[in-house]
Amino acid sequence: MQSIASYDVYSGVSMTTNQAKHVWETALGQLEVQVTRPSYETWLKNTVGIEHSDGEFVVGTPNAFVAEMLEQRMYSLISQAMERITSEPVDVRFQVTPTDDLRSTRKSSVKERRVEPATVQNDSFRGFQHGFNLNSMYTFDNFIIGKSNELAHAAALATTDNPGVLYNPLVIHSDVGLGKTHLLHAIGAQMRLSGLSLIYTTTEDFTNAYIKAIRHGQTEDFRSHYRNTDALLLDDIQFLIGKEQTQEGFFHTFNALHMANKQIVITSDRPLTELSLLERRVRSRLAGGLVVDIQPPDIETRLAILDAKAQSFGQGFPSDVLQFLSERIRSNVRELEGALNRINAYSQTTRSPINLSLVKQITTDIIGSNRRHFLKPAKVIEEVAQYFDVSQSSLKGPRGTKVVALARQITMYILREETNLGPTNIGRALGGKDHSTVVKNCAKIAKQIHSDPQLRRHVVNLQKLVTETS
Ligand code: ADP
Ligand code: MG
Repeated sequence: MQSIASYDVYSGVSMTTNQAKHVWETALGQLEVQVTRPSYETWLKNTVGIEHSDGEFVVGTPNAFVAEMLEQRMYSLISQAMERITSEPVDVRFQVTPTDDLRSTRKSSVKERRVEPATVQNDSFRGFQHGFNLNSMYTFDNFIIGKSNELAHAAALATTDNPGVLYNPLVIHSDVGLGKTHLLHAIGAQMRLSGLSLIYTTTEDFTNAYIKAIRHGQTEDFRSHYRNTDALLLDDIQFLIGKEQTQEGFFHTFNALHMANKQIVITSDRPLTELSLLERRVRSRLAGGLVVDIQPPDIETRLAILDAKAQSFGQGFPSDVLQFLSERIRSNVRELEGALNRINAYSQTTRSPINLSLVKQITTDIIGSNRRHFLKPAKVIEEVAQYFDVSQSSLKGPRGTKVVALARQITMYILREETNLGPTNIGRALGGKDHSTVVKNCAKIAKQIHSDPQLRRHVVNLQKLVTETS
């Protein structure tokens, strides 16, 4: 690392690199006892003090992701610690500065691991996803970054910089259609460029391979097949929910890879807590890892995604059409793409130019009525609370009286019926309820409505109330 600081003749307050390093180490000592161990290990441990001048203190971080996390989540803790040490207000700035340590780890690991993917193929498992199963359409280059996915994107990218070192495992979590698989393939493509061997597999294929291995008494081969790789990219691990035997198989594979510092990246559209057996077993190992989630994209991001996809069609989508779609299709990138595909196909087969009225006509079923997309969860919660004369906080809280529980279930059901929110976000709107709780309760109400006229009346009344006044 170069020595950056020099004496600043104007302010007269400048520290040498060495002093800055010392000050930061003192700050780290304080921060270490203020944050949890995994947080410290993940975010703070590999940072260095670089420079202090003019009331600005520069901290070097191993990658952009750490810089961003420190800036967003720990800024006030850090600046307070710095102020205590320097006895003056300090602006802390984070700057990506790979440490020599990380750099050397990376170089040697890439060299050691340079294995042609083909050479690790094991005949009995040929056909079960290798690095070759990557979709070349999904790359970092064509992944549009916005507020809702920037952390997941940065974490994914960081993983390819230092596989097996920084975040292991990396778990990417979101509702469906928000880019998990895209990022996973992008990681795979990037790792292959660096000459790493990897296995990308859907959890379904993984499960089938495991069952087959058991049947043929080849579980040892199964495991060594996976162990012989630098990285395992496992898509849709929620598929293991309720499959305890495969969870067991995955657990052993996971452990072997993790102990050998092989990079593991997992995607899930349910919280990992629902993988009960696995969760209990791997909890301690997850501590060294990172769970990032992707939220539904905001309007700017939706527009940017539409823009990029529209350009790839090579035919004109007027900007009012893109604007319209980005306003109406809110929850899911896959739906945005689906709308473009459909419009494109329609205009090609009918040889009609794309314009707003055509688009409105052919997307009504995806878009539905407008209110569905503009109804706010807070509004629904407020109306239900008022209707049943319970407090909004009780709806967001745990259990409660019978009435509260029923009101809460109805809220979930109405949110599912009247908004575009997926179960994860419905749970979040209700104070952090589980995905599975939301799914269960919605199913329960949907069923009871048929047999319980009183319940049906409540639900219908409420649906009217929330949609009329919104
Ligand atoms: P998930 O695995 O979370 O269900 P996918 O990764 O399959 O979602 O994404 C659905 C579609 O949306 C894919 O075609 C993907 O390329 C696209 N997509 C999602 N997020 C983005 C993004 N940020 N930029 C560009 N395309 C995206
Ligand atoms: Mg997916």
